Parts: sequence; C-alpha cells; structure tokens
Amino acid sequence: MSNKNYTYAEVLILGPCSCKCFYCLGKEMPKASKESQLYTDFKDWKNFDEFIIKARSLNIKKVYVSSVNSDPLLYKHIYDLIVYLKKFFEYVGIRCNAANLDPKTHIYRALDECTEEISISLNSCNEALSQKIAGEHAKTEFFLLQFYMEREQRINANLKEKYPERRFRVSIVVNRYNVPQIESMLDYLAHIPLVSYVQLRRVYKYADNDKEFLKDQQAFDMLKEYIETVYTKVDEYKGSPIYEYESSDFSDDEGLLKVRFSLWEDVFPEEEIRSFNYYTSGLISSNRLLVPGFEEQNTF
Ligand code: SF4
Repeated sequence: MSNKNYTYAEVLILGPCSCKCFYCLGKEMPKASKESQLYTDFKDWKNFDEFIIKARSLNIKKVYVSSVNSDPLLYKHIYDLIVYLKKFFEYVGIRCNAANLDPKTHIYRALDECTEEISISLNSCNEALSQKIAGEHAKTEFFLLQFYMEREQRINANLKEKYPERRFRVSIVVNRYNVPQIESMLDYLAHIPLVSYVQLRRVYKYADNDKEFLKDQQAFDMLKEYIETVYTKVDEYKGSPIYEYESSDFSDDEGLLKVRFSLWEDVFPEEEIRSFNYYTSGLISSNRLLVPGFEEQNTF
C-alpha cells in the first residue's frame, strides 16, 4: 500500500451530463463515456466499501463528491450518499454545477449536509451566454445560483456555526465568450455575501496537441496580464496569488462589497495536493490527474 499523505479523497460520479460545456474534459474520456452509475444505489457500486476502508486506513479526513464528465447533482441518491460519507469522513464537500441547482428536489437537502467546501461552477450571469457555452440546459444557471445562495443565507446561517469549514466557492472557466464579462461576474458575486471566493480557471486540456482551445487559453492569459497589472495580491494559496475585487456598491453595514478571487492555470504539483480517487465504475486510483487516471485505468 502506498504511504503517501493524501490531501483528500474524491468520489467521481460517472454518467451523462445535462450540460454540454464546449471545453468539457469529459470529451477526452471515451472509456468513461461508456459508464453510468447515476441511478445505481451507492451500496451497489463496485469496490466502494474497499475505497472507504482504504481511505480511512490512509487517515484521510476529507472527501469531495465530484465528477469529470457529469455533475454530482444529477446522481439520484446524492442526499443519501453525502449522509453516508459523513459517517466515515470528518469533512464532506461537493463540486457541482449551478445549472443543476434545482430547488424542487432533494438537491438542497444534500447540499445542507455538506460540512466542507461547496464548489459551484458558473459559466455566465447571462442566460443566452450560458446557453452558448454549455447548451440549452444551462440557461438559468446564474438565476439558480442566486436563488440557492439567498435561501442558504436566509435559512442556513446557523450551518456556518455548526460546520466552520463550510465555504462556498464559485468556479468560472474563463473562455473566449465570457472573458469580457469576468469583472461584471465578480461584481455580481461580490453582492452574494455567502460566496467565500471565486476561482478563475484556464481551460485545461490533457492532450498537448489540442489547438481547438487556443483562443480560450489566450483569453485567460490576457485576463491574467490585466489582473496582475490592475489588482494587488492580497494573499496566496499554495503558491497561487489571491486578489480582491471591490465593487462600487456598499453593503448595509460593512462598507464596500468585496470578493476574493484566484487564477488557476494548471494542476497543482503533487507536493501540494494529492487526491485518492474513486470512480463509480469501481476504479480506485491514486493518479491525481483524473482524466488519464481513468482512461489508463491506473489503480492504487
Ligand atoms: S457541467 Fe461539467 S461535466 Fe457537464 S458538460 Fe459542463 S464541464 Fe462537462
């Protein structure tokens, strides 16, 4: 058994996604696209018990429910899964998409159970643009995010006290379409007090020769240059600078509305972050590169 110190474990849900983000990493995963456990009870997932036993023997305290080709909020038993994971891990978080924050279902209950970071990805604050980037299903994503955050603020303020590690990250993949809007998105997000920070991401591709996304990567690089010129670094996380966006609007009590943001352009080096991964097809892998980890079926 490897004796690496893992930063966290990750449960990667496999299945078709409701969105069609043009930059999706799932497109690089032909093997994964043949899998779907979206409707399977997690107690029937292959090797899931073994994953939990191994993660515990490695002394991993934190787990994220996530995906590389789908959205965990599409998993039928997401609420039960989060509750179950809390029996074995001190911190349970989720990485999901704003397009599936459906207020009518079990989804809010699942999110209420999270004790760690809730990361929500967002393509745009504009319906038409969201649709252009992520397909028809994504058009109301900002509306759903706002609705969820407002409800969270109203009903679940006490959860912050109960779970002090609970944070809300909004993750934005910068691309050729939304790059002119990034500062106005930061402004919107500064108005949502629950947003702890925003991560601006560069389109990441495992295939080196993939030229299709050059325009998007150049859009990020230009934005980065602009941010480094105009903003002052206020902090850093594992070597990545953190900045602060300041709105021209005031909050009721604490002065100008602000939100922190970081620029993410590459996978963190192994010395910084190591994840112990479980794919719902049954694969347990210690390859922190999630796409090759699955496609090459790298085991633990
Ligand atoms: S929401 Fe995530 S998994 Fe779904 S298409 Fe977009 S990037 Fe891919």
